[in-house]
Amino acid sequence: MSAEIIDGKAFAAKVRAKVASHVARLKADHDIQPGLAVVLVGEDPASQVYVRSKGKMTVEVGMNSYEHKLAADTPEADVLALIERLNNDADVHGILVQLPLPDHMNEDLVVNAVDPAKDVDGFSISNVGLLATGQKTMVPCTPLGCLMMLREHHGSLSGLDAVVIGRSNIVGKPMAALLLGDSCTVTIAHSRTKDLPDVVRRADIVVAAVGRAEMVLGDWIKPGATVIDVGINRIDAPERGEGKTRLVGDVDFDSAVDVAGAITPVPGGVGPMTIACLLANTVTACSRANGLKEPEGLTV
Ligand code: NDP
Repeated sequence: MSAEIIDGKAFAAKVRAKVASHVARLKADHDIQPGLAVVLVGEDPASQVYVRSKGKMTVEVGMNSYEHKLAADTPEADVLALIERLNNDADVHGILVQLPLPDHMNEDLVVNAVDPAKDVDGFSISNVGLLATGQKTMVPCTPLGCLMMLREHHGSLSGLDAVVIGRSNIVGKPMAALLLGDSCTVTIAHSRTKDLPDVVRRADIVVAAVGRAEMVLGDWIKPGATVIDVGINRIDAPERGEGKTRLVGDVDFDSAVDVAGAITPVPGGVGPMTIACLLANTVTACSRANGLKEPEGLTV
């Protein structure tokens, strides 16, 4: 049996199209244009690439994109002052602080300075608390994208056994909270989990968010299970030529695809959904800020 490949790239394009049509309606009916501000401190090359691509997609769906690029040695107080300005700017509906921040900054302090209503990453303590208690919130983009794909594939997730491998604040924990919210029986595994293969073998849904290339093997997967691979790992690819590399997930795709019922590829699975969900969160935040109906299917 070969698993159905869950095409995150195609699904993300559909999400962006939904966002774009809601943005067009906000403009036509209410003369409102949603805006997303991204704050980048320092010159981390990967962060620069992410910020560029976020800005480009923000504009493509018809929203305003505001990029604030600050030098790596910018004092923390200046970043906090910028966030305060953006919090009070009625044209800005979403604020994203690109992580990681330089070492001299207190990441928790900066992230929590963002107005929770504009915190489109969903990382602030109050949004984390709302998610944990099953209330309306801003859901972190990567787990939101995973949940959207799971709902699309399964319809109802109620009663399914789910294992989330990884307990980070940005992926593992919010993912587990969302699956619990959809009435899965959830296990959170991590580096101290005993007999991880056995734990994974019980799951109808496996979400791998570990950061270890191809760690989850096909014979860990229950036949027919749905596998969501969040991992992005760059490995050497000598078969492509000297010095070449390629991206792989946390799941050994080649062995898992023969056992799983459905699986997300890397690249082209969770990754594209993350940016689509950032745009979805921004249009949701804009609708809420203006007391308007939220777009359907773009949040939980
Ligand atoms: P973190 O490093 O913050 O967390 C990794 C988690 O994996 C930890 O909870 C850790 O356990 C657990 N872990 C590590 N080794 C093992 C092991 N051998 N067995 C079981 N669990 C283990 O990573 P993130 O959550 O930030 O990211 C995870 C992956 O997802 C990375 O590859 C990252 O690049 C990718 N990612 C992809 C995104 C996308 O858009 N597709 C977005 C965000 C992340 P412990 O807590 O015990 O140390």
